[in-house]
Amino acid sequence: MPEHYDLIAIGAGSGGLSVVERAAAHGARCAVVEAGRLGGTCVNRGCVPKKIMWYAAQFAHALHDARGYGFSISVEDFDWAALVERRERYIAGINSWYRNYLADAEVDLIEGKARFLEAHVLQVGRRRLEADHVVVATGSRAQVPEVPGAELGITSDGFFELEALPRRVAVVGAGYIAAELVGVLHALGSEVSLFLRGEQLLRRFDGMLRDGLMEAMLDQGIDLFPGTRVDHVELQPDGRRTLVCGHGHVTEDLDAVIWATGRRPHTEGLGLEAVGIETGPGGEIVTDRYQNTNVAGIYAVGDVTGGVQLTPVAIAAARRLADRLFGGQPQRHLDYEWIPTVVFSHPPLGTVGLSETEARERHGPAVKVYQTRFVSMYHALTERKPRTAMKLVCVGPRERVVGCHLIGPGVDEMLQGFAVALRMGATKRDLDDTVAIHPTSAEELVTMR
Ligand code: FAD
Ligand code: NDP
Repeated sequence: MPEHYDLIAIGAGSGGLSVVERAAAHGARCAVVEAGRLGGTCVNRGCVPKKIMWYAAQFAHALHDARGYGFSISVEDFDWAALVERRERYIAGINSWYRNYLADAEVDLIEGKARFLEAHVLQVGRRRLEADHVVVATGSRAQVPEVPGAELGITSDGFFELEALPRRVAVVGAGYIAAELVGVLHALGSEVSLFLRGEQLLRRFDGMLRDGLMEAMLDQGIDLFPGTRVDHVELQPDGRRTLVCGHGHVTEDLDAVIWATGRRPHTEGLGLEAVGIETGPGGEIVTDRYQNTNVAGIYAVGDVTGGVQLTPVAIAAARRLADRLFGGQPQRHLDYEWIPTVVFSHPPLGTVGLSETEARERHGPAVKVYQTRFVSMYHALTERKPRTAMKLVCVGPRERVVGCHLIGPGVDEMLQGFAVALRMGATKRDLDDTVAIHPTSAEELVTMR
């Protein structure tokens, strides 16, 4: 007889952990199945190790900036291995925290790879598990271009396994991961080239952010190759790599080639076809707005649904699903609008709502844009002068703020509160009527003309 649960989540990442935690709090008997490390991508190979590396890069910049404030600093060494060792120790602590948390919440952790036998029956190793509700939260995996020699490159997973700082690196891609890894590697001392197949970084973001980040990268000395497609990668006799692009452009002596070319839903080996769960053209599990798949009692949340691939989105969808199934809130679901997001580039950038282009497409001449660009006071005395840029996109006679776009030091910590205001329907007047906090960069958002 299979072991029976009210709810089983497949995958103990952001989505899977959140749905079992919340369902268990509502009194459901839950299990979560995990084939790898507890915490999933975010904790082990995503947000958490990335943010640690970003902080390290921030230190590198700050040490340089300190000279402008009168400090005479000589940095003797940067110990990559020590940083990685401490980062992994921190992550191991989070892994064990989750293990205890699950035990305290009386959620069973079942280690192994899950596969559907029937709609409500799973196989994990030799165990057969049955549940009234099954939530697929298996995340996504990096995809690499199908070019000869692609296996000579690494993805963000491989970046977190590097044992030494690569001296010379090529990063291929133009999304979040490319923008973030380029900034970290450059700040820590690598010679970095970024290859974009299109003309722009972060294609879906507001033009001001795209231009601002590309300008900042060029100022820092990062080599950008827009409109450049990779043809193949070669292994040199000394073990380094050569990247050969279209039009015969060749970059030699690379210690690492990093593919940052998007992520694909992770559904391999799940047996979705055996139970007839519908998938879309990119392999994503198709759900309605309540996270229901086409099979009754089976749901999907997070990256595997092919939507916005962010940790708080997976968590929010999962918690709402548990509230709906066990918390007596039958209409509860995630509203996928007004999702704020930050790219931890150098400088960071953040966005919520519509870009100026999207707003003009939807609202035409009713759109009014406020914009500012300045050097923050922190950089008044430093050699580096990165620009801060801010844009508010407003619509209609009341000037409802429908988009807020920021790039510059500190904006990563600035956006969350403005996301609340925009979601509540803030107008330009509401921002103007808010007393500023001085002297900050954030005050520009309530004083813009
Ligand atoms: P995951 O967290 O990937 O969890 C899926 C889990 O399912 C995995 O642990 C996997 O082992 C397990 N699994 C898969 N198949 C099976 C199976 N058959 N049986 C059992 N277990 C299985 N988002 C942010 O919001 N902020 C950031 O700063 C950020 N930085 C990122 C940096 C990088 C380098 C990357 C790659 C991603 C980053 N993300 C960030 C995105 C974020 O990590 C994901 O959106 C989030 O982890 C998705 O959660 P999930 O639950 O859908 O999947
Ligand atoms: P993104 O979806 O952000 O970007 C993928 C990039 O890959 C695009 O710029 C695309 O170029 C490029 N690309 C695709 N195929 C090729 C190819 N064959 N050759 C060259 N370039 C190619 O994916 P990422 O991998 O950067 O990140 C995955 C997701 O993880 C993100 O979408 C985000 O949701 C999440 N994430 C979030 C972070 C955060 O919140 N700070 C940080 C890191 C990841 P083009 O623009 O031309 O289509």
